[in-house]
Amino acid sequence: FIIPDFIQFTEQIHDIYEICKNDRRGKPADYIPQLARANPDNWGVALCTVDGQRYSAGDTTIPFCIQSCSKPLNYALALTDMGAEKVHSYVGQEPSGRSFNEICLDSSNKPHNPMINAGAIITSSLLKPTLRIADRFDYVHSQYKRIAGGEFVGFSNATYLSEKETADRNFSLAYYMRENKCFPENADLVKTLEFYFQLCSVEITAETGAVIAATLANGGICPTTGEKVLTGDAVRNTLSLMYSCGMYDYSGQFAFKCGLPAKSGVAGAILIVVPNVMGVCTWAPSLDELGNSCRGITFCKELVNKFSFHNYDDL
Ligand code: GLU
Repeated sequence: FIIPDFIQFTEQIHDIYEICKNDRRGKPADYIPQLARANPDNWGVALCTVDGQRYSAGDTTIPFCIQSCSKPLNYALALTDMGAEKVHSYVGQEPSGRSFNEICLDSSNKPHNPMINAGAIITSSLLKPTLRIADRFDYVHSQYKRIAGGEFVGFSNATYLSEKETADRNFSLAYYMRENKCFPENADLVKTLEFYFQLCSVEITAETGAVIAATLANGGICPTTGEKVLTGDAVRNTLSLMYSCGMYDYSGQFAFKCGLPAKSGVAGAILIVVPNVMGVCTWAPSLDELGNSCRGITFCKELVNKFSFHNYDDL
């Protein structure tokens, strides 16, 4: 086993879970009612090792919206489908140094990276572009499900409708990108945006997220099914950009302090990858001023403190 004394390990994880439970800072996102209504008491931590050992504490079977945690998955799927060269002819690899939904492009007029909205909208346009939109959604949904080893993957239509209704910023971004010829030929702006909102509105649980993160930790082979779902190169590139760009305007500090590839979303989830060891998903709706889950960040700091999982620990 990758973690020999798993019981003792999970007792320590449970201690961290309890410490974070006392963290009452922050508040849930409130730009749409579906997120504003979130219960700030919800707190779940689930993990899955690369050899398939599982542990869950708290609210790990309650569905929540994946939101920006979809971005690394869509990027990994696009890479697996069409290769890095093609994908990166449309989107860069540089932290933007700006807010996730800022209307800005890099010096060659491409979105800075696939982990911010501009890059994620373009990445969405690259997913099975020749299929009809319903089939494109079915395709991505079924791929998420494979990456998650068959765990729950749902959809919140109410969230989708709310996202679409409050999307002025994302529409502005898309028009700005169309003006700058960022989209692939034949991409339909409105359909692409709707597709992007739908992918943000996919629902998962913390248990789902743990297996997803574990597939990334395991080079694209889902540890619970043994199925190869993403190429090794796709996973390497995805983890690189999660490391540098995954945590909004805290990404540099998170890389410095925790040294792990991770991606957070506005519903309060964080996908955390400990390469070659395990995937973790934390979920707590209350966010800090940068948009990351307060309890999730506390969890990551405690985790790295206790187990030396920082990329540059133990050199
Ligand atoms: N639906 C959000 C948006 O595109 C994503 C928010 C997030 O999780 O960062 O604005």
